[in-house]
Amino acid sequence: MSEKHLSHCPRCRGQLDYDREVERPVRQGNDVAIVTVRADVCTQCSELLLHPGMADRLVLAARRLREGNTAPVLGRVFDFRSEA
Ligand SMILES: [Zn+2]
Repeated sequence: MSEKHLSHCPRCRGQLDYDREVERPVRQGNDVAIVTVRADVCTQCSELLLHPGMADRLVLAARRLREGNTAPVLGRVFDFRSEA
């Protein structure tokens, strides 16, 4: 394994949970894509340290949303903003 792992979270020095698969939402306007990324996750502050190439995955998802690309639909978005 050639990947370099940090020994502690750079933000809070907490312990890291290595090599987790995490679901991340990517939002473009009112559209949201759920993307799975590999990351080390801090057990204390939940900081996400993305593995190499994972940031590109999020950028690509945002681009796909902008271009109107779709995938299976999971849910709906309800707008409660105008309610008191
Ligand atoms: Zn942390």
